[in-house]
Amino acid sequence: MGTIDYREPVLDVRPRNSSRKLITASRVGETNRGRVLEILHRSGPSSRAELARVLSVNRATIASILQPLIDVGVLVEKPPIAASPAGGKPARPIWFSRNGPLLGAVQVSPDFVAAALLGIDGNVRVRASAVYERDADSQTILSALVEATSTCFSAADLIGIGVAASGMVKISTGSIISMHLTPGLNGIEIGQTLEDRFGTPVLVDHHPRVQALGDLWFGLGRDIEDFASVYTGEALGFGIVHRGSIIRGRDGAGGESGHTTVQLDGALCRCGRRGCWETVATLGWLRQKSSELGLDNASEMTAATLLSQVSDGNTVAAGLMSLYARNLAVGMINNEQILASGTYIMHGDVCGGGKPMLEAIQDWMNKLAPARETNPLVLFATQPDEITLLGGGGLILSSAFATVA
Ligand SMILES: [Zn+2]
Repeated sequence: MGTIDYREPVLDVRPRNSSRKLITASRVGETNRGRVLEILHRSGPSSRAELARVLSVNRATIASILQPLIDVGVLVEKPPIAASPAGGKPARPIWFSRNGPLLGAVQVSPDFVAAALLGIDGNVRVRASAVYERDADSQTILSALVEATSTCFSAADLIGIGVAASGMVKISTGSIISMHLTPGLNGIEIGQTLEDRFGTPVLVDHHPRVQALGDLWFGLGRDIEDFASVYTGEALGFGIVHRGSIIRGRDGAGGESGHTTVQLDGALCRCGRRGCWETVATLGWLRQKSSELGLDNASEMTAATLLSQVSDGNTVAAGLMSLYARNLAVGMINNEQILASGTYIMHGDVCGGGKPMLEAIQDWMNKLAPARETNPLVLFATQPDEITLLGGGGLILSSAFATVA
């Protein structure tokens, strides 16, 4: 597998009705094409005049940006809508073609692999998944990967496949370096396996970072320049969008916020360190605390079941919810102190806690935040199951169309 360059890729879009068409344009042209796609995802169908205005270019330039995307079937001009009362030529909104090129998205998790075939508009066309045990060996996991992806991608002509991988990733080889929950994922060659099978570019990245790209392209982050996408549940992770760009450390490093230290000499973490954020704000911690406090169904406690006990008037459960909220807020405030992301889009277990959980976290964020005019804002993702897979599509869009992400 070759080195992946996220900065200067070539737009390789294959129209359905010709064998293959490769567009190579200047960086500026590609960036503008990427921006057009971003604007459409954010604003919906837009006229040429509207796109020109947002990009601050004239009508001739917007035509030169749009035409290649129309030629290869990414975008279409829809039927004219009625002219405004002021008169003038009726506008023909530009939108994604339903028959346009397709994106592959894959999520490799501690106990399942999910795959989806996506339209360039983010519509899920086909979906499949396969499960494995936490003690599964690498071969079993690769078989599950092939099973789920073959169902989705075998008959498709893809721009590329974007993969959200759990654990520490190595982008240049498309592999997982280590995954504490499922050791069979250690060293697994996801990128090579998928490239060999489907003959299309494959980009593998850290799960929370891909989740952030899902927020950025298709979710609550569409209108936000700075935000952190936070994964909660059995593990904790951050994907950070800063000034409109996703942040990546060298070869995919970083985003391991779950292993930042929040308690010196605290509990032993599965990574070998002590007092990591994961030791005080994950499901493992919640279940341990529930057990110590004598709550019902402690061993299967989640934010959702905790909420139901709170709703039943259990004051001990209410206290634990506040503690869970505080401990989550601590990790996010640490990021606020360093990067001031401002908005925190939360995913995973915590969303099951509903409005009371959201309000509890926001209260703690307000208490702990640096004293400035506005406090950081906490949001719960609205499509938590879909957004990581959609982010796999965002990873390909960001690369293929050379946007900043
Ligand atoms: Zn740790």
